[in-house]
Amino acid sequence: MQEDLFKRLVSHSKEYGFIYPSSEVYDGLGGVYDYGPMGAELKNNIKEYWWKAMVQVHENIVGLDSAIFMHPKIWKASGHVDAFNDPLIDNKDSKKRYRADVLIEAEIDKLEAKIEKEVEKARKKFDNFDEAMFRSTNARVLDWANRAEAIAKRLANGLKDNNLADIKALIEELEIADPDSGSRNWTDVRQFNLMFNTQMSNIAGEDGKLYLRPETAQGIFVNFLNVQKTTRQKVPFGIAQIGKAFRNEIVARQFIFRMREFEQMEMQYFIRPGSEMEWYAYWKEKRMAWHRAVTPAAKLRFKDHDNLAFYANAAVDIQFEFPFGFKELEGIHSRTDHDLGSHQDMSGKKMQYFDPELNESYVPYVVETSVGLDRMFLSILSNSLVEETVPDAQGEDSTRTVLRIPPALSPIKCAVLPIVRNKEDLVEKARGVFDQLKFQFTCQYDEKDAIGRRYRRQDAIGTPYCVTIDFDSLENDTVTIRERDSMQQVRVPISEVAGIVRQKTEMHRLLEQIG
Ligand code: ATP
Repeated sequence: MQEDLFKRLVSHSKEYGFIYPSSEVYDGLGGVYDYGPMGAELKNNIKEYWWKAMVQVHENIVGLDSAIFMHPKIWKASGHVDAFNDPLIDNKDSKKRYRADVLIEAEIDKLEAKIEKEVEKARKKFDNFDEAMFRSTNARVLDWANRAEAIAKRLANGLKDNNLADIKALIEELEIADPDSGSRNWTDVRQFNLMFNTQMSNIAGEDGKLYLRPETAQGIFVNFLNVQKTTRQKVPFGIAQIGKAFRNEIVARQFIFRMREFEQMEMQYFIRPGSEMEWYAYWKEKRMAWHRAVTPAAKLRFKDHDNLAFYANAAVDIQFEFPFGFKELEGIHSRTDHDLGSHQDMSGKKMQYFDPELNESYVPYVVETSVGLDRMFLSILSNSLVEETVPDAQGEDSTRTVLRIPPALSPIKCAVLPIVRNKEDLVEKARGVFDQLKFQFTCQYDEKDAIGRRYRRQDAIGTPYCVTIDFDSLENDTVTIRERDSMQQVRVPISEVAGIVRQKTEMHRLLEQIG
């Protein structure tokens, strides 16, 4: 069923101009996608929602748009040259390449799925079911949970200590087979650096080697003092940025969940050392509220990191229940003074802030929030795509595909439809309504096909309102306005249409909800 939803999502995205595979006429390019006309609108709306919630609402958060190319030493200082690796493994028979940690995590997922199934079975069997008690006493559940924990721990240690031989041993002990071919004929595990590189034309050799940034955060760190001085912000303050990032992912599957070129929305919050846990808790809650304003709470959860980076003292993911399970959507990390400290050491330039209240200088600590724009896009789409049975004009059952996108994020806010197209005065009236509304909202004018089909087309791209101009409109300047989710139609004066659309689609309602 979920697999089915995922397939529908991919084909719906293409059919309605949300997402196309990149370079499709040349059979595509793995892990790279293009956003079509509807996709570009939805993406811009998600960006706007994030930017406003961060920069507009917080007096002490400012924006930045740093370049993708940066001095190569930045990636040495940040640790990416030496340690931005994934452990890869090849299957000798199928010649397929996998991430060793992902193969092992899939085994953990299987055990967790078994536990959930057992819990559901018991829930159905017993009245007054005590779930916590069942989880802590049922022998099978306990056994699976212990096994999952032991595997996760061994994997985390293997990654931390770079003990690739033990990761391979774990794959063998768990008898993990190639998911495609079933073969267990594996190579050794080795590390693979995920950064793409290119060459600057005027500098030969290693010195001219540039990296396409694998995250936007470093552009913020190296500009920290520029921004602080030019905006005269006082700690605590934040810098927010939206931009492209590039990772040479070993396996780029699952559509736009794991891409080789993607976009991040990151915010670094600069704070006094020692205050990080307070700010970490604050941003965890704030970011979850941002998600909950557009996504049902049951589809979101926190997941603490099993494997903390050596410099981080707290890290959590906000996971979303994608059609292929709960997976990371956003990361919130307390990164101490690791990045600024490393740039200070590598560049020899002070990365310090003078705190007038304490009368001392220090390298600020950082709490960062980092959400993938494309993953956010996928979460909105997978949450919105619904197929339902509704009565047609004759009262017969028919199916409609509707994207229940939160109206503030919908690509098109309002469609203007003359009931028929062969009546000049009706068309002229409808054009007039469209020409008024287009200055305020993204609108579509559509006169082709029967009205029912036009409604369905708008449902399929998530348009919250359809305004229909009919013969009565010519007499009394009223129109019908149809709401996407309820499909209810009401007759209103043309002069009220803009107000109705605005009421439901304006971004500020979402922002107020977060507080
Ligand atoms: P994962 O464990 O899934 O590879 P990550 O922990 O490496 O992700 P971060 O480095 O924390 O990810 O990046 C922050 C955010 O950027 C992620 O939460 C995710 O939303 C997004 N992101 C990271 N890698 C990709 C990718 N290859 N494609 C799309 N989005 C990505």
